[in-house]
Amino acid sequence: MDDLFLKNVTCLVCGNNFKTSKVRRSRYVVSKVDTDFCTYYKGENPLFYNVNICPFCGYGFTENFAEPGESSKEAIQNKIFKFNIDFSGKRSVDLAILAYRRAIDCALLQKGKNILLAGLSLHMAWLYRFLGEEEPERKYMAESLHYYKEAFEKDAEIGNLAATLYIMGDLNRRLGNDREAILYFTKIINDKSITDAGIIRMARKRWQDMRGTK
Ligand SMILES: [Zn+2]
Repeated sequence: MDDLFLKNVTCLVCGNNFKTSKVRRSRYVVSKVDTDFCTYYKGENPLFYNVNICPFCGYGFTENFAEPGESSKEAIQNKIFKFNIDFSGKRSVDLAILAYRRAIDCALLQKGKNILLAGLSLHMAWLYRFLGEEEPERKYMAESLHYYKEAFEKDAEIGNLAATLYIMGDLNRRLGNDREAILYFTKIINDKSITDAGIIRMARKRWQDMRGTK
């Protein structure tokens, strides 16, 4: 348990306080980062502990969740969650998947923003990648891409523009949508308003790799 510590969290739905495990920042040891920023750690992976599950009402949320409105709170409290699972301690990938599924269900119940659902789905895809389960990984990558597109077309708030475009490019590439992937990568390379040198370098690298394999 040395890599973990117990953090006090307040539930955004029922208002109760509870403790849940998080990874100590000083123990983060990155071993590898995939092209879509999926990160591997030598010790505990902080991703597994992102979702807080309230043991009182079952609500699953991350620090990116907004407080649900009253009708959403009611919908969440009326939803039948499984309470026989203890999420508070060390988490396996399987337990992290259950926690993320809960967070996605709650985000849907409270009509969370597209960008929130895009991020949750992307993380879920990574968890299945850790297990080597390609089918659900692809399913969640496709869902993530769908929510990123919705956010991009309809919402003002999409976070970092360059990073969002890059992720959309890389998700398209991973899903085999080469034409769309190249559109996103070239947009990053050619758009003068994008100044993030790291992202531009990564977009150029992906684009070159794709041309190299044709
Ligand atoms: Zn609660």
